[in-house]
Order: sequence, then C-alpha cells, then structure tokens
Amino acid sequence: MNRLTAPLPPGSTLGVFGGGQLGRMFAQAADKLGYRVHVFAPETNCPASQVASQQTVADYHDFQAIARFAQSVAAVTLEFENVPVAAAEAAAHYVPVRPAGDALYMVQDRGREKGFLTAAGIPCTPYCNIRSEEELHSAVQRVGSPAVLKTTKFGYDGKGQTILQSPDDADRAWSHLGRHKCVLEQFIDFRREISVLIARGADGEMVTCGPIENSHTNHILDVSVLHGEVASAVSEASIDAAKKIAVELDLVGLACVEFFETAEGKVMVNEIAPRPHNSGHLTIEACETSQFEQQVRALAGLPLGAMHNDRPAAMANLLGDLWPVDGEPNRSEPPWDRLREFPDVQLHLYGKQTARPGRKMGHLTVLAPTPEEAEHQVRAARAALAAPIG
Ligand code: AMP
Repeated sequence: MNRLTAPLPPGSTLGVFGGGQLGRMFAQAADKLGYRVHVFAPETNCPASQVASQQTVADYHDFQAIARFAQSVAAVTLEFENVPVAAAEAAAHYVPVRPAGDALYMVQDRGREKGFLTAAGIPCTPYCNIRSEEELHSAVQRVGSPAVLKTTKFGYDGKGQTILQSPDDADRAWSHLGRHKCVLEQFIDFRREISVLIARGADGEMVTCGPIENSHTNHILDVSVLHGEVASAVSEASIDAAKKIAVELDLVGLACVEFFETAEGKVMVNEIAPRPHNSGHLTIEACETSQFEQQVRALAGLPLGAMHNDRPAAMANLLGDLWPVDGEPNRSEPPWDRLREFPDVQLHLYGKQTARPGRKMGHLTVLAPTPEEAEHQVRAARAALAAPIG
C-alpha cells in the first residue's frame, strides 16, 4: 500500500522501525503535531520507546509481529536504513511505508548505491566493486593509493572500512574486513565534508536545508555548522544532486546526502541516508521545520514546512566518553551545571541507560549571529563538560 487518500488526522498513530535517538526525536516531532507513535524495535526501554505511546519489542524478522504492528498504525517510517527490506515490504502490505523498500534496497549496499548514483549521472567517489583478493589487487592499481576499502553492507561511523596506504596493504586490508564483498574508493583529499537534508512529499514537493559543514573525529560526526544562506556553486551543486537523488529514489520522507567537497570545489556523494541524520539535529532550533517534523509531515501526507536556513547554528555531539567511568565517586553524569555559563546552548539527551566511549548520548545546539560564533560557543560548552572536576 503506497498512497494515502487524505492527510492523516491528528490522533492517528504513526509507526517507526527502530528505537534509537532518531526515532525519539521523530516521536517528539510527531507529538507536536498531535500524532501518537508506535515504535517497533528489538530492545526494551530504548530512546524512542521512552517518548512513544506504544512499543512492539520484536525482531525485524518476526513477520507476525510486523503484521500486528502495521495493522495498529496508519503509516510506517524508519529511523535506520538497515531495516530489512522484507520487513518494510511486510508492513507495506497493510499501510504506506515511507521511504519504501525499493529506496532502502538501493542504499543498503555501497556497491549498489554507487551504481545507482553513476547511472543517474550524479558524481560520487571513484570506486571499484571487489569480490575477491585478486579483484582488490587489480583495483588498487586502477583506483590508485591511498584508497579506502569499505564493506558493502552494515558500515557506519567508520566501521567496516580501512585505508590502503599502498598496494602492499591489499592482503592485510582484505583479511582485516573479513573477506566480505567490498568497494574500493579513491581516498579523497577533501576540503570539507558537507551534507544536504532533503524532504520530499508524496506529491513530489521538495524542501532542502544546507549544505551543512561537518567535521568528524575517529570517523564519528563531531561538530556540524549551518552557515546560513550561502549561494555558491558548491551549495547549488550539492542541493541539485540531493534533489535528483530524491526523485530517482522516489523518496517520500526525509533523507540526508553526505558529500566531499574537493580542493577544486567539486562535490562528490559519499553516502545517502534515507532518514533524518545526525548533521540535521541543529534544524530543531535553526529551522521553522526540523528534519524530524518534515519526516512526520511527509509520512502523514501533510504539506512540508519551510526550512529557511538563514540562522547560523552549530551542533556538537556528546559521546559516552564525557560520562564518568565506573567507580568515580558520587557522580554518574557529566557536570551539567556548567552549562549555566552558556545560556544560549540547548541540551538534548537521548535517555540511553549505559554510556560507552564513542556512543552518541546527546548533543548541544546553539544559534548565533555568525557561524564562527555558533561553532565557538558549542565547542566551548562541550569542553566545559569535559574539563576535570577540581
Ligand atoms: P563513511 O562511513 O563512508 O561515511 O565514512 C566515514 C568517514 O570516513 C567520512 O565521513 C570521511 O571522513 C572518511 N572517509 C570515508 N571515505 C573516504 C574517502 N573515500 N576519502 C577520504 N575520506 C573518507
């Protein structure tokens, strides 16, 4: 089932596959518009279920549970793209699923995703598909080194990838990644990493936000900055590519496209996420309509909202590393009182029970007159949380 005949009335229940922080912020946005949310996730007491009205705790391969879930909601979305296509299709038997299984299928495999981009004429990092050690040896000659070897499936935040500094690294890299199907990408000496958020309604209406500038630490997004309305060839090219991707995927919902901007000012797609994205969290404060509200609107068949990103903003992730380690006396949380020094900084916490290094526990956002000031403030606020208690 793919069409709604009319927008879903307030009071309807929206379903979401996945129980993480993206599902939580989706549920918060849905609540603002008067919808209830039913979360489908294998974990109990997850970030999304804490703020939703209902949860099904089941595996994504439990098709009976999926059928019951889908029959209890008016439409279904998802908060991570590795929801099995079969699960999305099982739910689509009963209600619209947005984005649809076809779009998920296209982005769940890096090789397929790059083939899709190439066929659509959208620039992406030069790459080769790798199925064996022999293919890797010949590909590294063609792609050149350094190069990045990435497993085609289930890679995120730098997991499932390794750098080949020279062709001599090929054997090590191939066994390091477990001899799975891979893509070998040229290593891009990028000037910046940027992302564009794109919302697309069932009627084809599109609204974008960005580009947003992103910096990573240990392959994990660290800080995102929205610069405000910047007209440049780079922003035009990235917005055009995001729109083309949304149309080609027949996306209904909210997606994020990540790009490398090269030293020559060209943009190349790195990855497509057919769901809200960490770099878009700042839209909660910076835009009239957040990325999560756009996801709700597209799902419920409401008109999309505006995303005039003319207010500079910055977001910094709060990883589990900020939390005290076990055994630190009388303290289980970061020193939140220090945020009083930063009255413009907004704290978001995801309700995760256990902090681990590298785990996303929350984020900070601030709006400021200039992007530099916003970035400075959000970094300073986070540094205050990290400073030793003296
Ligand atoms: P990914 O999981 O593909 O988004 O990669 C995580 C991060 O690794 C990216 O945000 C980049 O900082 C870096 N990276 C990935 N692929 C490349 C590449 N081909 N060239 C340079 N850096 C890369």
